Amino acid sequence: MSADARSAPHSIGSAVASASSTTSSPSAAEPRLLAGSPIAAEIRAGLSRDFAAFKERHGYAPTLAIVLVGADAPSAVYLQQILRTCAKVGVLGRLVEIGSDVTPDAVCTEIEKLNDDPAVAGIIVQMPLPAHIPLATVIDSIDPAKDIDGIHPRNAGLLALGYDGFLPATAQASVEILKRSGIEIAGKRVVVVGRSNVVGKPASLLLLREHGTVTICHSKTRDLSRQTREAEILIVAAGKAGLITGDMLSPGAVVVDVGINVVGDTLLGDVDFESARGVVSAITPVPGGVGPLTNAILLTHLLAAATAQAERATAKRAPGTRDD
Ligand code: NAD
Repeated sequence: MSADARSAPHSIGSAVASASSTTSSPSAAEPRLLAGSPIAAEIRAGLSRDFAAFKERHGYAPTLAIVLVGADAPSAVYLQQILRTCAKVGVLGRLVEIGSDVTPDAVCTEIEKLNDDPAVAGIIVQMPLPAHIPLATVIDSIDPAKDIDGIHPRNAGLLALGYDGFLPATAQASVEILKRSGIEIAGKRVVVVGRSNVVGKPASLLLLREHGTVTICHSKTRDLSRQTREAEILIVAAGKAGLITGDMLSPGAVVVDVGINVVGDTLLGDVDFESARGVVSAITPVPGGVGPLTNAILLTHLLAAATAQAERATAKRAPGTRDD
């Protein structure tokens, strides 16, 4: 199948565009809580309508294929969430389970089958992969037109250049929660903690696209708190519970905490909420902030992918376009 990711939107689809800012009301002493769940619910409502219209028009419900190599407990929890979200909006979720004792070639062969399957509109690969399976090899085997989480180099390149392509959903969610909450990004000093290919780096590029003045910090950054105290907007995606404490924040800062850390029975963010709450003007809760938005946004990408693929298939079948 030809890979034309250029036809996919870099900004989220109509379902997201129609979702309004939804936050809890601030009190004098408390920061504003930037809640993701109500925004996600609005996006899902729009998606249910859009996928029903898609099915009506094209005669099938698109499939999201989730590739799981080896069993991994955190993946299992995430998988149940995404499969539930698929069911809610009228998408068929297909779990493709591959044992961990396979070769990299065998994983790529499974992905190529999904690339060639016209029922499958989008493919995501659950991380982490077993150590003997090179991530880059697996990513390269995904058709960029079905790469709805924006991990293929083609989509990453399109993002870097500011062109249309699929965006990594978590990075997009971390920026979208600011925009949907009416928080101005243009001209602000924005600091991103984390430079992974799936969150920190793409979030930084998206914030730059929104005209923020962006600084990226990482594990080798010297004097992290000196950087974070400069931030008017701080995005934290480090995977370290409580890394950012109140004394590292500037008064009135807006904080987006992407971190999800399982500590005992509790889910904690990368920001120490208790010490941050007296300093910041707005903050995303964990859980209930960026997390719920991510799946909803991912399915807006699936809708865009399915629509582009169905339209290409229709154009191919149209009279007068055949070579013979
Ligand atoms: P990762 O481990 O790939 O990257 C972590 C980044 O943080 C690295 O760039 C590293 O340099 C930086 N870092 C680590 N320790 C640091 C320190 N002490 N100071 C400064 N920088 C430091 O992780 P990831 O995949 O980018 O995920 C980050 C976090 O976001 C994790 O907690 C993950 O669970 C969470 N996450 C949430 C969602 C969601 O839907 N909300 C989705 C994906 C990831």
